[in-house]
Amino acid sequence: MTPHSLDPRAPWVVSTHDLGRRPGTMRRMHLTLPAPADIGVDMIGVPRGADVELDIRLEAVMEGVLVTGTAQTPLRGECARCLEELTSETEVSFQELFFYSAEDAAEDDSLLDGELLDLEPAFRDAVVLTLPLSPVCSDDCSGLCSECGTRLADAEPGHGHEVIDARWAKLQGLVPEHNNDQES
Ligand SMILES: [Zn+2]
Ligand SMILES: [Zn+2]
Repeated sequence: MTPHSLDPRAPWVVSTHDLGRRPGTMRRMHLTLPAPADIGVDMIGVPRGADVELDIRLEAVMEGVLVTGTAQTPLRGECARCLEELTSETEVSFQELFFYSAEDAAEDDSLLDGELLDLEPAFRDAVVLTLPLSPVCSDDCSGLCSECGTRLADAEPGHGHEVIDARWAKLQGLVPEHNNDQES
């Protein structure tokens, strides 16, 4: 449960003051908020302080305030195949009911702190669920050369270290020799 310690000036803390408590009252908000720290998995996450665009709807219901929203956030990470830095973005949806009273709420439910609620945990949970465990810089990233570790996207076309098969060895003299693969 949310402890009673929300800072009204914290960026992700939203006041429900204008909403009132009459069920059915609604309010929409568009917010641009700085991304909280430490949202991510191994290879990708939300850069701290990046602009997160939120469209949320606050709705007074019997037990509390229902928040429904979407958030668009930039992502930064590392390609799981070639280890290059990559950037992308994601859009997530979330919904959270903030209870007026702890008596109505279960252990894991969110509570209003007076008229304040904190959007950060709902956003955090929603984003982490969508993050890929193996992000790639492009769908056809061919990764690194297993022999020398060169990033294949940066290498000469046909980069390779094939050992010439004995059957082909006699043909070797027939093709001009160029581009030994050590050069890149
Ligand atoms: Zn890659
Ligand atoms: Zn190589």
